[in-house]
Amino acid sequence: MQEYTSCHWLQHGLSFENDHIEMCCLCCHEGGGRLNIIDNYNGKKVSWNDILDKKQKFIQENKNNIIDKRCEGCFNLVYRGWDDNEKYINYIHFNHWTHCNSDCIYCYTSWDKQNYQKRPHYSVMPMIKDLFKQKLFRPGGEITFAGGEPTILKEFDELVNFLIKHGADRITVHSSGIKFSKAIEKGIKEKVLHVCLSADSGSREMYQRVKRVDKFDKFWENARKYAKAQTDYTKALVETKFILIPEINTTKEEIDKWLNLNVENGIKSVVIDIENDYCKDLRAKNLEKPKYLVELCEYIINRAKQLDLQLIDYNNFRYLTEEYQLI
Ligand code: SF4
Ligand code: SF4
Repeated sequence: MQEYTSCHWLQHGLSFENDHIEMCCLCCHEGGGRLNIIDNYNGKKVSWNDILDKKQKFIQENKNNIIDKRCEGCFNLVYRGWDDNEKYINYIHFNHWTHCNSDCIYCYTSWDKQNYQKRPHYSVMPMIKDLFKQKLFRPGGEITFAGGEPTILKEFDELVNFLIKHGADRITVHSSGIKFSKAIEKGIKEKVLHVCLSADSGSREMYQRVKRVDKFDKFWENARKYAKAQTDYTKALVETKFILIPEINTTKEEIDKWLNLNVENGIKSVVIDIENDYCKDLRAKNLEKPKYLVELCEYIINRAKQLDLQLIDYNNFRYLTEEYQLI
């Protein structure tokens, strides 16, 4: 097995985006990601072998020690032996970026919400069915849903049920939590799916301010229902996520309320991140993270430990904890 610098997305993954297919959805690092595989994509059937051939070009460059600039600084890059003799897919991401039942202040879709809600959405079912039919999918990786609200798309439950039935063993759904999905509940019960629900607040007032929809009670009702479906706590299957938006929801009081709500509703793991545009801006200006933010991150780590909550660090939070050696 040849050793070289690469990542699991480049080797075996791809991301369906609103109008194209790319290698991954990672874009918070220095290089900014966005390694396109197919431009102007709208759901048409494409040969999986063509996709795998296009990926091969990038893999060959990595083998030759030419790391694409767009990958620079990404935490997924590692130097190790990669099994590239067999071509298969085991990481898939769905970022449809159309339609959402929330209106988060930090989301790029809020800049032009009306038009965003009208963007067409293509079906991925034909491509996914073909992938499984050709036995090019291999369990052991991860299938993730994000960008936009997946549960309100017509084919969502059908797609998740298909994936569960055909042996996908690790599915992650990022959801606003406003609409309950039976397929998500089934995946949790079968221990193959985990759902990450976007809370960003611990109080009704802050929820309303950040999400700009009146769904605080519905959110926690659904979170509780998903938590009840979980029987195996060796895996984090239900979690709520808090994106720290400096100067808005970054108080210890808000954090405490949110952590307590998780405990009260039977949720065992929580996710933390920091608003991406804010971090990008600091990076561009070569500025340090403010002291209060670093201290708040440390506080969150300690409180989660005290409450016996598993803390999952997403992109910008992870970069901060590594930089300040908080974990
Ligand atoms: S190194 Fe990062 S940006 Fe590059 S393909 Fe992998 S996950 Fe994407
Ligand atoms: S839930 Fe996600 S897609 Fe919807 S508005 Fe919030 S950040 Fe955007």
